[in-house]
Amino acid sequence: MAAFGTVFMPQMAISRFEGSQWSQPEMVASDSITLHPGAHVLHYSSTCFEGLKAFRQPDGSIKLFRMDKNIDRFAQSSALLSLPKIDKAVTTQMILDSVRQYASEVPAPPGSMYIRPTHFGIDPAIGKAAAPSLTSLQYILLSPVGEYFNSDAGGLRLLLDETGMRCAPHNGMIKSGGNYASALRPIMQAREKFKADQVLFCPGGYAQETGAANFLLIDNGEIITKALDESFLHGITRDSILTLARDMGMTISEREISVEELLERASKPGCEAALSGTAAVLAPVGTFIHNDREYQLGDGKEGPLTKKLRQAMNDIQWGLAEDPHNWLFDL
Ligand SMILES: *Cc1c(COP(=O)(O)O)cnc(C)c1O
Repeated sequence: MAAFGTVFMPQMAISRFEGSQWSQPEMVASDSITLHPGAHVLHYSSTCFEGLKAFRQPDGSIKLFRMDKNIDRFAQSSALLSLPKIDKAVTTQMILDSVRQYASEVPAPPGSMYIRPTHFGIDPAIGKAAAPSLTSLQYILLSPVGEYFNSDAGGLRLLLDETGMRCAPHNGMIKSGGNYASALRPIMQAREKFKADQVLFCPGGYAQETGAANFLLIDNGEIITKALDESFLHGITRDSILTLARDMGMTISEREISVEELLERASKPGCEAALSGTAAVLAPVGTFIHNDREYQLGDGKEGPLTKKLRQAMNDIQWGLAEDPHNWLFDL
């Protein structure tokens, strides 16, 4: 099976911002675009993206999961990067048109169609280090994906990093390319030195998030996770899981959690941890690594509450359960 995100549908919807408006979206080949080498994005990282999924339902129809939230965040990322303003109606239409064109290619569960809206500045102007790009491009890439996540494998090995940062704190809630470049070196070092899968950035000694996912501690019926602030990405999966957990009667504590508290809780029975994001929904954490010591959570595999929450979310996405919060959009 091809690696996640390496297979693309042959065409994509594209639109260009110039003057004061977005061009009429077109479907074009998805294997190339033409950019001036001086394009703003290539020098000053004026770029953001989104990630959402379309799911095949038992009756064969296709539904999009919480698309409005992704479009809101896309518009917010664009605004915070001083990119041209997203017209939400245009982006919505581009997503719908693209997915409709490839509706027959949407895999059945556990697969899905991963949708990657992308927006970046294209002014050919290398003198604009401190000025926004006034022209930009947005497109909607589609990538059919299989099951991201193998739950028979053990949980992830997570390095707790109290000295590094994923990105500059004022950029945390922007889904922008530069933030991933910024996180890559600490992640590579953690892989090499500790055979860690991911780094949980803990600036100032408090758990924040990993390179591309939010962090949840699931301790005996209570979920503890950092409250929303500017410093990290506000995951739609995080919000969905907290909502489902509340529906199930679990306690939700959105607050700071120190590394010390994390390790203390992790050493007791019934404590689980997971990473949340669109790709995997919830990926279980098996081991924390901190100051050259390892702390295994339970048996190091997926815990029962992590599994239950992921299943509840998948059941809604896959049309196997009621959708009480109206998260699914008709195509
Ligand atoms: C995309 C992303 C997430 C998860 O967001 P979802 O909306 O749940 O997919 C979390 N953290 C970072 C840094 C991300 O890029």
